[in-house]
Amino acid sequence: MNFKNLNLINPIIRAVTEAGYSRPTEIQYSAIPHILAGRDIAVSAQTGAGKTAAFAMPILQLLKRQTPDHKEIRTLILTPTQELAIQIEENFKIYSKYLPLSQLSIYEGVSIGSQLAALRKRVDVLVATPGGLLDVENQRHIDLSKIELFVLDDADKMLDMGFINHIKKILNLVSHRRQNLIFSATMPGSLKYFAKTILNNPVEIIA
Ligand code: AMP
Repeated sequence: MNFKNLNLINPIIRAVTEAGYSRPTEIQYSAIPHILAGRDIAVSAQTGAGKTAAFAMPILQLLKRQTPDHKEIRTLILTPTQELAIQIEENFKIYSKYLPLSQLSIYEGVSIGSQLAALRKRVDVLVATPGGLLDVENQRHIDLSKIELFVLDDADKMLDMGFINHIKKILNLVSHRRQNLIFSATMPGSLKYFAKTILNNPVEIIA
């Protein structure tokens, strides 16, 4: 099984091949076809299984299909920590090397002014910690109404860290017509319950 079998487009295959990936990991093989088909998914997978690329590669492909002159943020990825937000942004940068798509991460502890300045440029994929996003949103309205793809990364950790109300607040700012992807190392009952309120007829994948 290689990346071509997953129907990924050449600019993405070229970028990941240059990054040293020769074939999809198990979770990429299971999740990517469903994401490309527009399905909501809930994935249980450990860190290190290649989960960032499992959502980043198909998201870039879905964004590429849309009109290139789009000005709004179309993908929102929520993740629990600054380190993870930076790491996800860096991965998107690597995979989108040959695509006209841009990414930005925002998180607490950075000047709001510099984050607002960065948001004035075109952003296709916004990666954020829930608190960081709400801090910026409180300063100036960020238009999240055109979000087509919403990802909760490390969802169990986010619930453990008490972010549920932040996430609910953010979901109120996001379009209701969107595709939702949840990734988590574990699926405790509280997360399953919360996931049910977000996901629409999801495919469940346990890696
Ligand atoms: P993650 O589970 O997203 O934290 O990814 C773990 C590591 O695996 C990261 O360093 C990725 O760059 C790497 N990785 C992701 N997908 C692949 C792949 N298909 N082949 C080789 N390495 C990969």
